[in-house]
Amino acid sequence: MSSIIYPTTNFTATEQLTIERGEGVYVYDTNGKQYLEGLSGLWCTSLGYGNRELIDTTAEQMGKLAFSHMFGGKTHKVGMELAEKLTAMVPVDNARVFFGSSGSDANDTHIKMLRYYFNAIGKPQKRKIISRERSYHGVTVAAASLTGLPVNQTNFDLPIDALGILRTDAPHYYRGALAGESEADFVTRITNNLEQLILREGPDTIAAFIAEPITGASGVIVPPAGYYQKVQAILDKYDILFWADEVITGFGRTGNDFGCTTMGIERPALMTLAKQLSSAYMPISASVIRGDLYDAMVEPSNKLGVFGHGYTYSGHPVACAVALKTLEIYQRDDIFGRAARMGEYLQRRLAEFRDHPLVGEVRGSGLIGALELVADKASGRAFDGGAVGAFAQRACEQHGLITRAVAGSSIAFCPPLIISEAQIDELIEKFGKALADTQDFVTRERLV
Ligand code: PMP
Repeated sequence: MSSIIYPTTNFTATEQLTIERGEGVYVYDTNGKQYLEGLSGLWCTSLGYGNRELIDTTAEQMGKLAFSHMFGGKTHKVGMELAEKLTAMVPVDNARVFFGSSGSDANDTHIKMLRYYFNAIGKPQKRKIISRERSYHGVTVAAASLTGLPVNQTNFDLPIDALGILRTDAPHYYRGALAGESEADFVTRITNNLEQLILREGPDTIAAFIAEPITGASGVIVPPAGYYQKVQAILDKYDILFWADEVITGFGRTGNDFGCTTMGIERPALMTLAKQLSSAYMPISASVIRGDLYDAMVEPSNKLGVFGHGYTYSGHPVACAVALKTLEIYQRDDIFGRAARMGEYLQRRLAEFRDHPLVGEVRGSGLIGALELVADKASGRAFDGGAVGAFAQRACEQHGLITRAVAGSSIAFCPPLIISEAQIDELIEKFGKALADTQDFVTRERLV
């Protein structure tokens, strides 16, 4: 074992796989074995590996200006160009953007921005944030407090009370519906729960509602039709801001430019972006806010004092240059249109597993999807623990496919947006073999 403490890994685990290089949608281990990267790294390498333009952009920008900060209004052209291009793309009115390096730090920024804003407009009590069960918003102390997964909280004494995080239902019909409940009734019930929560806490104490339009890391949950329309109506009624965490769903992933578009979420007040913003070639994130929120902070900032928040790497010029080039490529090569077409094909092919005895639910949108493996198909009974998901993930690897087991026994797919139809066929074929191995495993181990 090396001396690395591995992220999101059990301390007793041994090293699993040493990846050495990548090309297109494939990565290779140190033995030269090829894997189809079915998860785009961690839902991020949208343009695949070895993209010459991104490599050249990185080298050029490093040669020109490897670092410069943005404190106190110091700036650089490539950062300003990125801000203009990005704010023109997002469905946020008169958007303003704050740069960071990760999805987690961008969510922390938003928490602070909300507090600064409500302090600025004289409503300091409006500070709580509603987040959902089974959501993923990152792992810094504040972002992990927003996250709705025990694994990120229990052993760290999170969430921290001072943040005032409120929790509401995950919009997952398959797991959350009562016996005999229709999708429409499920939506009505959980959105009623949301309204009751708001009334109980007091609307004047609640700043925002955060949601991934489609969740990723917590199992790729696609909410039922009508869910966001009802949520938005409730938020509007009580003057609570909609905060879209598009760290995974942003930039073509769900078959449209943003997950908000796919799910009919109209013009959110805040948006968090990272990962595909730079196709993961450099770490960069963006906390986007609506222009009127920014404007309301400008004058009071004389009284409140400096917005005392900024990272050394806020607006890192190399990361900005790579992000700018990534956005240019998205537009020039119609990457989102292509991803939409390939996404339809992926969903169609994943649906072929629907009748498999181990598959409880197939879900997804565009080029993101998951298959939930279950112990009993008829009742939907889940497997205990994560052994089956872990086995399936390893079996995929053995067949040359990288995926990720999420939320226990769901196998997630999120290939690069540049994937072709033939490569989707390859993904499906490899997964089919791994699923057959998994079925042998659960039979052998008497897990069903
Ligand atoms: N929000 C969402 C929706 C995410 O999926 C993630 C990461 N998977 C994060 C935030 C945190 O991003 P990071 O890991 O870059 O801190």
